[in-house]
Amino acid sequence: MKLDVNTLFIVTIYVEAILGLLLLFAWAQNMAIHAVAWWGFAHLIRAASVVLFGMYGSAPELVTIDLANALLFTAFAVTWTGARVFDGKPVEPVYLVTGAVLWLLLCRLPVLTDAIDVRSMIASAIIAGYTWLTAYEFWRGRSEQLVSRWPAIFMLFAHGALFLLRTPLVAILPWSVTNNNIFASVWLTVLSFEALLFTISIAFILLAMAKERTELRHRTAAMVDPLTGIANRRAFLQDAGQLAERYRGRPRPTAVLLVDLDHFKSINDRFGHALGDRVLEIFTGAARQSIRASDLLGRIGGEEFAAVLYDISAEKALAVAQRIREAFAEQAEEVNGRPVSASVSIGLVHCDGPVLDVPELLAQADQALYLAKENGRNRVEVASFETLLKRTGNAAAFSDAGAATAAAQNAA
Ligand code: GH3
Ligand code: MG
Ligand code: MG
Repeated sequence: MKLDVNTLFIVTIYVEAILGLLLLFAWAQNMAIHAVAWWGFAHLIRAASVVLFGMYGSAPELVTIDLANALLFTAFAVTWTGARVFDGKPVEPVYLVTGAVLWLLLCRLPVLTDAIDVRSMIASAIIAGYTWLTAYEFWRGRSEQLVSRWPAIFMLFAHGALFLLRTPLVAILPWSVTNNNIFASVWLTVLSFEALLFTISIAFILLAMAKERTELRHRTAAMVDPLTGIANRRAFLQDAGQLAERYRGRPRPTAVLLVDLDHFKSINDRFGHALGDRVLEIFTGAARQSIRASDLLGRIGGEEFAAVLYDISAEKALAVAQRIREAFAEQAEEVNGRPVSASVSIGLVHCDGPVLDVPELLAQADQALYLAKENGRNRVEVASFETLLKRTGNAAAFSDAGAATAAAQNAA
């Protein structure tokens, strides 16, 4: 394949400018993610640097080499800053100009004025440094699960690696500068072509990342309770439905817990709403540490929580419920130095049978919860054989094992 460098330059300038404008346009439509604007400006700056490179021969080298490179490095620094902003880090003006300033200072050194190889190595190192820092930034933020993070990391890493490999590769396959015209070099064609493909790919990947984050945030906002960070009612019921679907063919004994904080209104009244919120967070922590990672936990109402414990015996389910109750009572005894002594009542239902109908089990647990409140609060009650029979007329699937022990443990 034979590619004309001049044509590549014109195409690159056009593509960089269009992509820059596209990113800025995308940002104008959704200003929530500022990084998109940074990335847009990076492309525009890169377009400007390619314009200066393209003037090689018709303008002094101070402009077409020194300044053009300084602009190019700034463009990569802006992309990196965008990545930092994307992951919530502050803008550091020093980082933005470090590469360019370092380059311009080194260019002034008499020993380097004519050492093209060394200057080319320095330029490569600065670009590789910035692209790898950008890749590292995205890698650091990987706990936010965006699929497009990974192609971004890969592209940036590969682009940086190519720049670093350029120097040893040039030693093997020299620049072949003919008639003092570096534009005739195969290397310049290869690098310009790679830069063009990189810039197109990275622009679309970055745009995809921003879009993916926006969608993830919308989805999270619709499914996660903002105070406690656990599933809200809708997500909890949806997760429970998926669980039932997944294990339809091989059902295992399942327990459902329904939890309601005791006298919570009075806690709010006495200590304030903010402390009430803190109590809800404490409950979430106590519940989480008492259940397995595979169990479902959700906040299904103001001060009501529910849990699904899949594949668990009646005895173990009861032990978990008691553990939640005790852990919470202990942790909410004193909150922010105030004697809150919060407690919970828990309704528990255990089911051995083939039908995993969580809404039905929740209704059962609700009956038991009602009983727990009636029987004095701060206790666990297990839905009895009778309550199930009363509701469905079919108690075959129900395990009554825990009811008697629950009474004994509550008393303890
Ligand atoms: P019981 O023991 O019978 O359950 O009494 P209770 O006071 O807990 O029950 P009630 O249903 O009367 O009160 C629930 C209270 O929960 C009323 C409401 O203000 C409070 N609440 C609901 N959501 C929140 C919340 O997000 N934060 C705070 N601080 N309070 C909340
Ligand atoms: Mg309630
Ligand atoms: Mg309550």
